[in-house]
Amino acid sequence: MLRLTEVKLPLDHPEDEIKTAILKKLQITDEELIGYSIFKRSYDARKKGEIALVYILDVETTQETHLLKRLKKDPHVMVTPDMSYRPVAKAPSNLAIRPIVIGTGPCGLFAGLMLAQMGFRPIILERGKKVRDRTADTFGFWKKKSDFNPESNAQFGEGGAGTFSDGKLYSQVKDPQHYGRKVLTELVNAGASPEILYINKPHIGTFKLVGIVQSMRAKIESLGGEIRFESRVEDINIENGQVRGVTLASGEYIASEYVVLAVGHSARDTFQMLYERGVYIEPKPFSIGFRVEHPQTLIDQCRFGPQAGHKLLGAADYKLVHHCQNGRSVYSFCMCPGGLVVAAASEPGRLVTNGMSQYSRNERNANSAIVVGITPEDYPGNALAGIDFQRRLEEQAFKLGGGTYEAPGQLVGDFLKDRSSTAFGTVKPSYTPGVHLCDLSQSLPDYAIAAIREALPAFDKQIKGFAMDDAVLTGVETRTSSPIRIKRKEDYQSLNTVGLYPAGEGAGYAGGILSAGIDGIKVAEAVALSILRNCDRK
Ligand code: FAD
Repeated sequence: MLRLTEVKLPLDHPEDEIKTAILKKLQITDEELIGYSIFKRSYDARKKGEIALVYILDVETTQETHLLKRLKKDPHVMVTPDMSYRPVAKAPSNLAIRPIVIGTGPCGLFAGLMLAQMGFRPIILERGKKVRDRTADTFGFWKKKSDFNPESNAQFGEGGAGTFSDGKLYSQVKDPQHYGRKVLTELVNAGASPEILYINKPHIGTFKLVGIVQSMRAKIESLGGEIRFESRVEDINIENGQVRGVTLASGEYIASEYVVLAVGHSARDTFQMLYERGVYIEPKPFSIGFRVEHPQTLIDQCRFGPQAGHKLLGAADYKLVHHCQNGRSVYSFCMCPGGLVVAAASEPGRLVTNGMSQYSRNERNANSAIVVGITPEDYPGNALAGIDFQRRLEEQAFKLGGGTYEAPGQLVGDFLKDRSSTAFGTVKPSYTPGVHLCDLSQSLPDYAIAAIREALPAFDKQIKGFAMDDAVLTGVETRTSSPIRIKRKEDYQSLNTVGLYPAGEGAGYAGGILSAGIDGIKVAEAVALSILRNCDRK
């Protein structure tokens, strides 16, 4: 099979133009073309009004050998790489050992699925509820119908942090072994649209994710895995540097010398417990800031001009960065086109914002986090000092919002002029339970406020209207990534605790759904190989 890259066609091209483009590019006849498939479709929107679709195509032809010779200097023609996934191990049928996976976020789910597919019958422990019950709790809280539940919310419960999200499925991690393809393929097997396999920057959307998570659970169980909900791991038994098992909040003890720790970045109590048990943890940089909301039409117009609204383009996104005079960098993060700002706290009396969208991305506002990078020098202390720092900001945001889980908010115009907001303008914020207008400059350290005040007008030069007076800021964003790293060795085990496999976002080894899933696969492979090696030795 041949892979053709950079095949550019107009946005509204008829379908058979793809075939024509292949014949022209390879200079072959219709009869010599056996078939083709679209590997990737993206767009080039640099010229407004002339947006082009850009394809990567996999082509089957009777002329492959000849073409490879003739076009060997053409960087856009190559042999299609083999991206299929092959399991690295197979558990013996009489294996008594069962690995434990803590957490059912994308990392834990993929680690569990891979272990189950290889025959290792994992026991998966999740502190929160099954996804349907969790959805009722979380949406109930957002709609002011039920109280905040610290064990069942936007961060905790089946599916992990990204369940109520835009479901963006792209990542900048290096992936030479194509694990990302395996993640996407399993998501399609679990019910995601096959388009996620070929669209550049695919997304799933909240309601579809819920069904996918349930389907992955059923698959793991059908392969002999076990998933236990409302089973918070409260302690870990380590003897002479070797994990022996875990204790649940119920008091139950489960023995295993293989424990995958995929608890996400919000498991602060679990981090504290691991720290007290002597597991090596170090602080790491993360970011803090606000969510900003604009009319989606403003972003669409700016990015797509007259072609805004085209069905193949969907709601436009953006990615912005500004390096400030005070040495800080401000960037947009987790942009949700046509989405909602959501309450993403996991502790009572603390407030955190984040964003989500449905598959259709058809809400009126675009939102993204506008965040400032910070480093451990900004929060000196022990390995968990970043968590204390996050907590202080989240408590302050809760107070500024009026102490009712309403988010503190301010209009961009007022924020730039350093005055409190008193009324909303044309942009109505989407955050529920509600937004309490105030002066957000009290919610973050001065250096962060100064940096965001400098960045917004700079972003306005790239997206006209970005600093519009009526755009709404809500605070605070503190969970852009984990404030710690639970360092591991090359074999994926903790630096000082044998049998403990820190994984995913909470351990500092992933950021986002796709990379967390990829890390889950890698760690599952490491666990499987280690079990087999240790069995051989005995
Ligand atoms: P998590 O998903 O955080 O999962 C950890 C799991 O462990 C949780 O289910 C938790 O309940 C459980 N747990 C924690 N402690 C314990 C314990 N002691 N015992 C048992 N269980 C425990 N990323 C994207 O790529 N695209 C997006 O569009 C996107 N949008 C997002 C929107 C929102 C609202 C949020 C909150 C996040 C979003 N993210 C998005 C980020 C993404 O969700 C995370 O990067 C990803 O979920 C991390 O995966 P993980 O498996 O490492 O951890």
